[in-house]
Amino acid sequence: MSIEEEFGSLAFTAKTMSRYLSRKTYQSLLATMQNGSALDPSIANEVAEGMKKWAMEHGATHFTHWFQPLTGTTAEKHDAFFNPDFEGGAFASFSGKELTQGEPDASSFPSGGLRATFEARGYTAWDPTSPAFIKTNASGISVLCIPTVFCGYHGEALDKKTPLLRSQAALVKQLNRVAQYFNLETVCRPFATLGPEQEYFLIDAQLYKQRPDLIETGRTLFGVRPARHQQLEDHYFGKIKDRVLSFMADVDHELWRLGIPAKTRHNEVSPAQFELAPVFEEQNLATDHNMLMMEVLQSIAEKHGLACLLHEKPFAGVNGSGKHNNWSITGPDGKNWLSPGKTPHENAKFLLILVSIIKAVDTYSPLLRAAVASAGNDHRLGANEAPPSIISIFLGEQLTDIIQQLENGGAKSSKEGGVLEIGVSSLPKLPQDATDRNRTSPFAFTGNKFEFRAVGSEQSCSSANTVLNLIVANSLDEMLTELEAAHEKGTDRNVALQALLQKEIKAHKRVLFDGNGYGEAWKKEAAKRGLPNFPTTLEAIEAYRDPMVVDLYSKYSVLSEVELKSRYAIAKENYFLVVAMESECALSLAKNRVLPAAISYAAELADSVESLENFKHAGVEKLAKFVSDEVEALVASIDALEDAVKHESAKAELKGMADVREHVDALETVVPKEQWPFPGYADMFFVG
Ligand code: ADP
Ligand code: MG
Repeated sequence: MSIEEEFGSLAFTAKTMSRYLSRKTYQSLLATMQNGSALDPSIANEVAEGMKKWAMEHGATHFTHWFQPLTGTTAEKHDAFFNPDFEGGAFASFSGKELTQGEPDASSFPSGGLRATFEARGYTAWDPTSPAFIKTNASGISVLCIPTVFCGYHGEALDKKTPLLRSQAALVKQLNRVAQYFNLETVCRPFATLGPEQEYFLIDAQLYKQRPDLIETGRTLFGVRPARHQQLEDHYFGKIKDRVLSFMADVDHELWRLGIPAKTRHNEVSPAQFELAPVFEEQNLATDHNMLMMEVLQSIAEKHGLACLLHEKPFAGVNGSGKHNNWSITGPDGKNWLSPGKTPHENAKFLLILVSIIKAVDTYSPLLRAAVASAGNDHRLGANEAPPSIISIFLGEQLTDIIQQLENGGAKSSKEGGVLEIGVSSLPKLPQDATDRNRTSPFAFTGNKFEFRAVGSEQSCSSANTVLNLIVANSLDEMLTELEAAHEKGTDRNVALQALLQKEIKAHKRVLFDGNGYGEAWKKEAAKRGLPNFPTTLEAIEAYRDPMVVDLYSKYSVLSEVELKSRYAIAKENYFLVVAMESECALSLAKNRVLPAAISYAAELADSVESLENFKHAGVEKLAKFVSDEVEALVASIDALEDAVKHESAKAELKGMADVREHVDALETVVPKEQWPFPGYADMFFVG
């Protein structure tokens, strides 16, 4: 099959739809998908019928509303297309009602106190902007999946998609206002774009099965980095080993069939670490596709006898995994608004958008930090290999220069040397390509988009993008209100814009930083600038309770105060649950697996010392003493961790786990490999 035929063959895309629907229904649905116009309920039955026919031709026997509850993963409940005819036979059916609305029992999904178990009813509602698709497992069992939102009886959001869609509506409104201010032609509905680059680790499934810590918690709780790891920098972009390449090729084909534009694949920095990047898409679709991509990575890995690890920090001492969230805006004129333009007019609009983002990120950086907070991501952010937990913006040399000029009251054209006002022809040429790169910034301008790099590899993109849309909508709203008022008063558009940009740059330039984000010096400098730094989840998520943030979410109807509170409660509870689960896993492994092995080895060494007594081997004695001391210390640290677990103190649990790990890892360096209870990093790193 050619790529053209294969691409989207398992998705009910516009192309497929046109073959299964009448022209009228097709056009009505297409308008909903492309322009966000309200869905005409009278077409639902026909769409359902067409979808069913298509799905059954592909072997599907069931359909499911596919949604994204606050667990952070996806959920599905399958219903068969078949109904008994009460004459001993059955017929296939799928109604418009079944397509558009579902009623799963919501009581067992996290709601953060929004809904008590006695109000179990939850609703799923079809999101027609994200095409339905067919998921097929390794044995060929196929299910029609219909992307949906998930909410409670009173319409309260219980999922990650709803706030994302609401934040998009808020942003769209402001983008249309920008277009109006600049008298731009409207050719489409404006939208945010997203290209999430996904990092992951791959290890052999046989080794994975021997690591209960990986199975239960997604990360290794013990393990010593081997001599050869990432220091030679030879893995990044290195030759992809055959076994891995076969896996990647399979993943690509499956993604293409689902209509997911997988584009780039390569080795990452750490051994056994890889990346998969799609071509960017409309943000809601890209977010769904990323959730699906994570599923596909894991199921195809299984097929290849591999395990795909999506955790942010599966291995200590080498790089963790993130999701580079490439975010931009396509305006109603159909153009990328983060591309510096060729004309002064376009540049004026570009600078307004750019400065609105600077203002948004500076004002709400704690909220951006909260959006990526999780127990897993805590191990990564600020670990000197990932963006720091201090949120700052990298602009690159040329843009920084222009911003500085604007701050000083009008950019001077570098060639003519005259004072420049936005909108006049002497505007300096803006860089078309960001030539310089900075890998240490959490929020970097990369030529025609911003790359938010703090998102964790396992997280849904929803929260981060909801915040981005929301805070930029708010900045634009405030700035446009001023610009429109000045215009009403008769101030020239460019003069007003010039003054406003200058004011906002002065107020928010502290968030701009092009230097090394990993260094200690930056921490100090950031503190001097008054930039917040929340190294851990518990500190970070407090942003959700800030009255300014609560107001922001309510003002744009993205989340009500109660809905936001529930998300805070879930984030907090989830953090405690993860840390407690890791602690219990660490305890059981240390007690039942490591201690017995270490004690036997200590005893063996003691025997050796005894039998070699005549030779007075100081080295052997030293080793015996080391192992026996470490065993003693391990027992003490296990007691301390047990105590922490009993007291349900996350802080003490984290400290306790670190202490237990220190002794377990010390023992791993000396206990003979064949006596060690699980495979080591060196075994797992060299997948091939
Ligand atoms: P790099 O970041 O290494 O330079 P690319 O520029 O190719 O790599 O882009 C990385 C990711 O950014 C890709 O997923 C790409 O599709 C995405 N991207 C490119 N343009 C946009 C855009 N306008 N909006 C959102 N994402 C984009
Ligand atoms: Mg990138």
